[in-house]
Amino acid sequence: ANANLFAALRAAFPADLDATAVETDDELRYSWRDLDRASAMLANLLDSLDLPAGSRIAVQVDKSVEAMLLYLAVLRAGHVFLPLNTAYQSAEIEYFVRNAEPAVVVCSPKNFGWVSKIAFQAGTRNVFTLGDDRTGSLLDRAAVQSDVHQAVQRQADDLAAILYTSGTTGRSKGAMLTHGNLLSNAQVLKDYWGWTEGDVLVHALPIFHVHGLFVAIHGALLNGSRILWHARFDPKRVIADLPRATVFMGVPTLYVRMLAEAALTKEQCASMRLFIAGSAPLLPETFNAWRERTGHTILERYGMSETIMLTSNPYRTKDGERRPGTVGFPLPGVGLRVCNDQDREVAQGEIGGIQVKGPNVFKGYWRMPEKTAEEFTKDGWFKTGDVGKIDDRGYVHIVGRSKDLIISGGYNVYPAEIEGYINEMPGVAESALVGVPHPDFGEVGVAVVVPKAGAQVQADAVVAALKSRLANFKIPKKCFVVPELPRNTMGKVQKNLLREQHRDLFR
Ligand code: ATP
Ligand code: MG
Repeated sequence: ANANLFAALRAAFPADLDATAVETDDELRYSWRDLDRASAMLANLLDSLDLPAGSRIAVQVDKSVEAMLLYLAVLRAGHVFLPLNTAYQSAEIEYFVRNAEPAVVVCSPKNFGWVSKIAFQAGTRNVFTLGDDRTGSLLDRAAVQSDVHQAVQRQADDLAAILYTSGTTGRSKGAMLTHGNLLSNAQVLKDYWGWTEGDVLVHALPIFHVHGLFVAIHGALLNGSRILWHARFDPKRVIADLPRATVFMGVPTLYVRMLAEAALTKEQCASMRLFIAGSAPLLPETFNAWRERTGHTILERYGMSETIMLTSNPYRTKDGERRPGTVGFPLPGVGLRVCNDQDREVAQGEIGGIQVKGPNVFKGYWRMPEKTAEEFTKDGWFKTGDVGKIDDRGYVHIVGRSKDLIISGGYNVYPAEIEGYINEMPGVAESALVGVPHPDFGEVGVAVVVPKAGAQVQADAVVAALKSRLANFKIPKKCFVVPELPRNTMGKVQKNLLREQHRDLFR
C-alpha cells in the first residue's frame, strides 16, 4: 500500500465528487473534483521540474484555497512542504531559504522582487508566484498540465513537511514531520473528536502553522467534510457563518474577539457541534464567558509543531468533563510523562518537564542533529520544553515553558500559577510573569498586567494582593500595567520580548 498521506486524504473524498468541498468568503465554490484535478495539475507541474525526490518546496503566500491545493500537490508528488509565516521579511526569509535549501520557492506576486533575489542567490532555480486571487506564474504554469496524477509511492517514515516552530522562545527550528506522523495523528483526532457525516468546518486560521494546516485541514478532508473558508479572521463574518457549520477551531484570541461581538448568541451557535481551542492557554474566564453566551463548552487541546496534537479534553461526556485550565488527557497512542531534570518520572500531581512518545512525534530538527539529540531522552522520549503536571483525575495541566520558569533564590516559580491569581483580580484582563536577573536572588519575577477595557488597575495593589496569599519568593518584585501584551501571529505571548525589555531593572 502507498503510505503517502495524500492517498489517504483522497480516499476519504465523498463518492459525489461534484459536491462542494470548499466555499470561500468571497463566494467561490470548489467541488471535490476541483480539488482532485487542480492538485493533480500542480503535482504534474512539480514532476515536470525533475526535482530530486524529497525536495523542499518553500511557500510564503497569503492564505488561499490554491495554497492548500499546492500543499496537497506537494504531498502527491512526494516532496516536502515547507510553509512560511506571511509576516516574515527579508532577513527571516533569507535564513529559512539558506537553511532549508528549497528546490522550489513560491511567493506572493508583490514580493517576487526580493524573494526571488534571495532564492536565486541561495541556489534555488525555481521561483513561482501565487496571489490570493488565483493570479501568478504557478497557476499559469499548472494550467497546461494534465489533471490526472498518480500519488507517488511513499513510506510512512518519509518526510512530508518541515514546519518551522513559532519562534516563541528563540529562533524557529524546522520540525521534520513524516507522512506517518501526520496521518496517524489525523486518524486519532477524527475518532476522538467524533468527526461525523455532515460536519462542516469554519476555517479562519493561517495555514502556515500546525493548527490551521494540519489539525483543521486534515480533519475536514479526512472526514470528507465541507470547509467554509475565511481568508482572514473577521469575527463578524465567522459568526455569520456559524449557522451553516458544525466545527470551529481557533486560538484563544479568536474566541476573545468573537465574544466582543453582540452577534454571538446561543441561536447563532445552534447548529454547532464543537468549538476547539489551542496553540496558547485559554483563560478560564474566556471558557466560562463562552459557555455562558453560547451554551457551548470549548474543548481545549495541546500540541506543537514537533508532535502535532498530544492531549485533548474529552469530546464525549462519558470520558469526562472539559475542564478549564487543563489540556485534557493524552490522546490514544500518545505516551506522556512528567519528569525531573534526570528524566525520572515525578510523583503524580507534582510539577516537571512534559515528555512524550508516539507515532506522531517528529523525526528531528532539520539540520540540527545536536539540538535533536538534546531534546530526546536516552530511552526515546521527546522533551516538549513545556512544564506541567497530571492531576488526580488524569488531566494534564501546563504551568509554563521550561525557558519561562523562574528560579528565584533557589525556588522554582511557575508563571502560570501567579498569572492565575493576578487574572482573577477585579479589573484585570490578563497578565504575564517573566523572570529577570537580580543580584541577590539570581532571578526575580516581574508582572506585566493588562486591565480590562475601562478598568483601572494599580500595580502596587496587585503586588499587595499577592502578598497576602502567596509565599514571598513567588511575589513579583515589580509590576507594570500596560495596554496589551506582545503577541506573535499565533496569538502567543512573547515573553522573550518582555524579559528583554525589563532585563536591566535590578542591575
Ligand atoms: P518555539 O518552539 O519556536 O519557541 P512555539 O513552541 O510557540 O515556538 P509551536 O510549535 O507553534 O511553537 O507551539 C507549541 C507550543 O504552544 C507548545 O509547546 C505549548 O507551549 C504551546 N501550547 C499549545 N497549545 C497550548 C495550550 N492549549 N495551552 C498552553 N500552551 C499551549
Ligand atoms: Mg516550541
